[in-house]
Amino acid sequence: MQAAVVNQLGGGLSVEDVEVPAPGPGQVLVKLVATGVCHTDLHAADGDWPVKPSPPFIPGHEGVGEVVQVGEGVTDLHLGDMVGNAWLAYACGVCEYCRTGWETLCEQQKNSGYSVDGSFGQYMLVDARFAARIPEGADPQEIAPILCAGVTVYKGLKVSEARPGQWVVISGIGGLGHVAVQYAIAMGLRVAAVDIADDKLELARKYGAEVVVNARNEDPVAAIQQKIGGAHAILVTAVHPAAFGQAIGMARRGGTIVFVGLPPGDFPAPIFDTVLKALTIRGSIVGTRQDLAEAIDFYDRGLIHPNITVRSLQEINDVMTELREGHVDGRVVIGY
Ligand code: NAD
Ligand code: ZN
Ligand code: ZN
Repeated sequence: MQAAVVNQLGGGLSVEDVEVPAPGPGQVLVKLVATGVCHTDLHAADGDWPVKPSPPFIPGHEGVGEVVQVGEGVTDLHLGDMVGNAWLAYACGVCEYCRTGWETLCEQQKNSGYSVDGSFGQYMLVDARFAARIPEGADPQEIAPILCAGVTVYKGLKVSEARPGQWVVISGIGGLGHVAVQYAIAMGLRVAAVDIADDKLELARKYGAEVVVNARNEDPVAAIQQKIGGAHAILVTAVHPAAFGQAIGMARRGGTIVFVGLPPGDFPAPIFDTVLKALTIRGSIVGTRQDLAEAIDFYDRGLIHPNITVRSLQEINDVMTELREGHVDGRVVIGY
């Protein structure tokens, strides 16, 4: 099969012939129809994070396709079922985190396209217990971004504890951010969008953002405080560390700042403001299988419309360059 392989961190991807993997116990073999390209795949290929993947590996964690082979012991997936992979490829199921509904924090977890091969190929293996169930009739290309971008921002908004009618700032209107605007609206929140590119902000407006701020042209902290009196919640999906420090300044008293973006770096946090304004700053990492099922359900009910551009696997390095330079509107989806 053809797959895009990272042979060396920082060395780009190489589209090459690799063997179709055979499903072990508990796994299914999936023939891919589509996969989203997440900025995380770029961080993985570049080796941006402290915990690095080991080449060679196949990135991709928004893959959708058809079950074509079923491994031993799999009882609830069958030939022809449409399934997807997700960042959470495996969790142990028995540790404190798994037992308390926080499988995304499991220390034994495996991650698609990072510690196990992902969806940038014509076939992939998926653990049947962690496979996303794709609803009947769903467009495989359009639903792909829900498997990471969708569930991640949906979970981030949930843990922000923002309630209907309250303001949320979505900082970074890329693959994650443009669906975050839609989830926020569907959850009854009022949305202010911050990015550094006008085309991204236009997309946010189209999906229902009432306020947009271009952080390249004006100070986003002053603008958010002046326009809406600060936000009850701020969801940061931006890929620049500057957005993280700014997010704290955008909060209303008692507000919650949720970080989901993962650019390498640190951010400054003012002790005085954090204490006196009783701010909550928290990280959020993808979502559990239940969060994913809920995020898919929002899509299935017609509430979320990812803005996708379909490209071929051969173009993967061009896509990565466009992502790095901030030139992707919404999500690129590879069609097989
Ligand atoms: P993307 O490249 O599609 O979007 C990033 C957006 O950030 C772009 O619109 C860009 O213009 C904007 N941006 C850049 N600098 C900015 C600034 N200073 N202020 C405001 N906006 C700015 O990326 P994506 O696929 O949406 O992923 C975003 C980040 O989220 C990545 O770091 C990715 O690794 C991370 N991520 C985290 C999780 C998680 O579970 N926590 C899941 C998926 C992705
Ligand atoms: Zn992702
Ligand atoms: Zn566990």
